[in-house]
Amino acid sequence: MKLNKGCFKIGLLLVIAIILIYPKKAYAVDKKEILFISSNNPSFVTFNDQVNGLKASLGDNIQLQIEYMDFRAFSSVENEENFYNLLKYKLSNYRDFSSVILGDDEALAFAVKYRNELFKNIPMVFLGASDAGLIDEALKLDNVFGVNEIESVHENIQLMKKFHKDVKNIIFLDRYDEKWRTKKFLDDCRKTYKEYTFEAINTREMNQDEIKMLAESFTKEDGVLMFYPVNFKDDKVSTYEEVSKALYENSSIPIYNIIGYGIGSGSIGGKTINHFNQGKEAGEIARDILLGNEIKNKYISGNDVNQYIFDYNRLKDFNIKEKDLPKGSIILNKPITFWEQYRTIIIPTTILLIGLFSIIIALIFFIINRIKYAKELLKAKQLAEEINQSKGHFISNISHELRTPVTVIMSAMQLIRLKINKNECCNNTGIDNNLTIINQNCYRLLRLINNIIDTAKIEGGFMDFRPVNINAVELIESIVESAVPYAETRELNIIFDTTDEEIYMSLDPNKIDRIVLNLLSNAIKFSKRGGTIEVNIENKENKMRLSVKDSGIGIDEGKIDQIFEKFVQVDESFMRVNEGSGIGLSIVKSFVGIHDGDIYVKSEINEGSEFIIEIPIRLLENEEIIDFNLEGEEEAVLGQTKVEFSDIYF
Ligand code: ADP
Repeated sequence: MKLNKGCFKIGLLLVIAIILIYPKKAYAVDKKEILFISSNNPSFVTFNDQVNGLKASLGDNIQLQIEYMDFRAFSSVENEENFYNLLKYKLSNYRDFSSVILGDDEALAFAVKYRNELFKNIPMVFLGASDAGLIDEALKLDNVFGVNEIESVHENIQLMKKFHKDVKNIIFLDRYDEKWRTKKFLDDCRKTYKEYTFEAINTREMNQDEIKMLAESFTKEDGVLMFYPVNFKDDKVSTYEEVSKALYENSSIPIYNIIGYGIGSGSIGGKTINHFNQGKEAGEIARDILLGNEIKNKYISGNDVNQYIFDYNRLKDFNIKEKDLPKGSIILNKPITFWEQYRTIIIPTTILLIGLFSIIIALIFFIINRIKYAKELLKAKQLAEEINQSKGHFISNISHELRTPVTVIMSAMQLIRLKINKNECCNNTGIDNNLTIINQNCYRLLRLINNIIDTAKIEGGFMDFRPVNINAVELIESIVESAVPYAETRELNIIFDTTDEEIYMSLDPNKIDRIVLNLLSNAIKFSKRGGTIEVNIENKENKMRLSVKDSGIGIDEGKIDQIFEKFVQVDESFMRVNEGSGIGLSIVKSFVGIHDGDIYVKSEINEGSEFIIEIPIRLLENEEIIDFNLEGEEEAVLGQTKVEFSDIYF
């Protein structure tokens, strides 16, 4: 048992140890490595851009092991041998690299030379190499890829051509002698651009003062293309910035850049060699090799990765518009616009403000709606109260209207009874008078009941309408005639006049009876004794226009709009002179309406009122004209007149 316990403890410790060690091992295996051999040392002007470009494509998980040949500073055989030995020693102690990246010509030449000894099965990726012969040789080998470095001379000449019409002579500034690539470009350009003269000036032999003097000698017909004019005779290595500045300060000619350094110190810029982009392309190839992806381009031309870069201030000096520059151009020193500077504040603030504004607007709408709704509610309440009030008036009026004739009838009957009791039954006149009173008050009750029934019918929408083709003049004249005796009792004169003797049209005679009698009974009721009532008929613009005009008490201006409403009486007091229920005109209006007509009033207080009715003159198709039977109609009219005029006492 003791032994078993010991074995268990050892086993447990082993498992823990494996767990602790395993992830570390796995990490080391997973960490990918690539070797980068730079021809230079880290202080060289292009080095950082190349490495940053590589890292941009490789990311953080792929480790870049860098070795520096430093051949530009020490181009000796010993240096090469030393580097070879150092690398051989290091490589034999390293794991395999997935690829080796070679920065610039010297590193590429070294790798080609020692391919078999040092990098036998390792894919090679070059960048920054410009020696065409060397590149050809390298590309013939297996698993060699890369991006070369080439000056975009032609593109810059095209820019010069487009933006500087004065330039006739293009000067190449370079520190290398004419045997170098500049010479090749010079020959090329002389052949291609006959409109220009070209010259190459070697700055290697010049000191700073001579550079200044050179700049002063430029005329407005000169344009400069800066290659690599960075070290001078006095052995002082000048920067691109210093050269650009010296040229800019001592001349006013356009200075274009072949390489992307010094822009912003006086040169315009141009299509420039871009070591960052080269690094990015080479890095992408190395990454694809490592991941086992297919390599799309074995060889990339540096001209394709060169970058158009310009200095904003120099563009302004030469009046070059941004929109005229090649697509994708980078502009340095461009002032940050207010928008660019505060975009991160402006956008959220604007969104917030819009949000707040929307909420405020929504609230305003909500409040407006609530107010509207409250107003409508108030209106509806007022209307309901008004209707209630007018119904109240109506009930009190109706009670009054009902009670008056009933009281009269009752007292007339009591009188008759008294007379019969006193045996005065033979006094015909007494009984006859009382019977007339009873008769008239029965008519009054009948009128009231008729009006109430008609109002109910109109409201219920089942009012009958029986139009016939008839002579309107004849019909209305007979109705007016029936009212004359009633008018005379109040010493009123009725004058009837018409423009036409015959106006044939479709009318419901019963309704016209009621309309005209109602208007006439009102005219009589509200006129002062001795006045005149004029009834006129006109055929006007295919309408029959009937006017009933009195010289009576008139209607208050404020009440005119209401008189056609149900139960409205201008004088609502119990002390009023005239009887009435306030329904007549509302029925008149409805009856005019079913004839497609209009009614309106002109009135002035104490001057009189004029009620005007206009009904379109139309005939019912395929219907005969009713021959106006005067006898029968007169009787009907007279019957209706008694009813309608029942509240006018003789
Ligand atoms: P009513 O049965 O009370 O006459 P109407 O509807 O016919 O009812 O008339 C409504 C009110 O209009 C009348 O009470 C009166 O105040 C006013 N009115 C109508 N016609 C005239 C008129 N010709 N002159 C003055 N007031 C009138």
